Amino acid sequence: MLEITNRDIMLKVGINAYGTIGKRVAEAITNQDDMKVVGVVKAHPNYMSLVAGKKFKIFVPDKNTLNSFQEAGIRVEGTLQNLLDESDVIVDATPEGYGEKNKPIYEKEKKKAVFQGGEEHELTNLSFNAYANYDEARGKDYVRVVSCNTTALIRTLFPLTDFGKIKVRANLVRRATDPDDYKKGPINSIVPDLKIPSHHGPDVASVIKGLDIQTMAVKVPTTLMHVHFVNVTFPNQVRKEDVMEKWKMLRRIAFVSGKDEVKSTSQIMDIARETGRTRSDLYEIVLWNDSVSIKGNELFYYQAVHQESDVVPENIDALRSMFELESKEKSIEKTDRTLKIGELAYGR
Ligand code: NAD
Repeated sequence: MLEITNRDIMLKVGINAYGTIGKRVAEAITNQDDMKVVGVVKAHPNYMSLVAGKKFKIFVPDKNTLNSFQEAGIRVEGTLQNLLDESDVIVDATPEGYGEKNKPIYEKEKKKAVFQGGEEHELTNLSFNAYANYDEARGKDYVRVVSCNTTALIRTLFPLTDFGKIKVRANLVRRATDPDDYKKGPINSIVPDLKIPSHHGPDVASVIKGLDIQTMAVKVPTTLMHVHFVNVTFPNQVRKEDVMEKWKMLRRIAFVSGKDEVKSTSQIMDIARETGRTRSDLYEIVLWNDSVSIKGNELFYYQAVHQESDVVPENIDALRSMFELESKEKSIEKTDRTLKIGELAYGR
């Protein structure tokens, strides 16, 4: 077990990679009173390095990258190695598979690290979701925050485990890529994941241990959110009101309704824009309340997932748990308050 920082000292966090997830986690940390961003690693001297440089100190992966930043006239404070020297912990938000290469570097420097869902569960043997297993990460050195889809499924399924041993069958309609990406598709196609179950089911079960879950997934040409169709079988009959009550206790689940003409992910994203969310981020999993239906022992619902942001609060809570800064309830409450989670106020 690596050294735990004195809890009176503000946690110094280095962010390795400033892409979709890294930039959001960095900004979320600036809203916290018990942690701060020491700097961010940028690999390319592009427009986003100029944007990042206005807010954070820039570091580069290694000495070989220094020149290109110097030539572009972008100020650099040092390399990842220097960032490690100044940080208590790293949030690794590098592209899928890079975390595996980076872990030995963090281990050598005796620094803790949070990895993202693009890495395998086996990298840390601890996959994290704040509602489901906050306490499992207490004092741990390496934690993996599960992917956007897995986070969404766990958020709405974990509370249902209070009704007994549930069986879950979920179908995922996945966005092709993120809005800033001009390279990836599909453009005019629907692409089924031919591996069944898709990796999401086993990933959910790595957090909600023993859950009977099977998932199938297709990719579609959109950048605006994923949508899940979820079917849950309970051991006994459960009332819709009881299910809704469980979900409504949780700020990280929000509700919309077709009755208000919220009939698509475009309109959900529009609500985020119109209600002043930064970057139109929706940390909450958005559930269509009119879709929630009970047939015998079975529950059916649709939920939408803002893939770029739902894992952000989980990263903040993972850091608090790893450094034993707060209890589960206090950490979630703090994260939610500072990120205005649960305040998706619109309409009546
Ligand atoms: P991204 O491509 O948006 O960002 C990755 C960034 O890393 C880019 O800015 C890239 O230039 C930079 N980079 C490349 N090589 C680097 C290096 N050697 N050192 C430092 N930076 C380097 O990727 P992302 O979407 O932020 O994904 C990061 C992780 O988060 C992945 O594991 C992914 O699976 C996971 N994740 C992504 C999403 C999503 O929807 N985008 C959601 C949840 C989890």
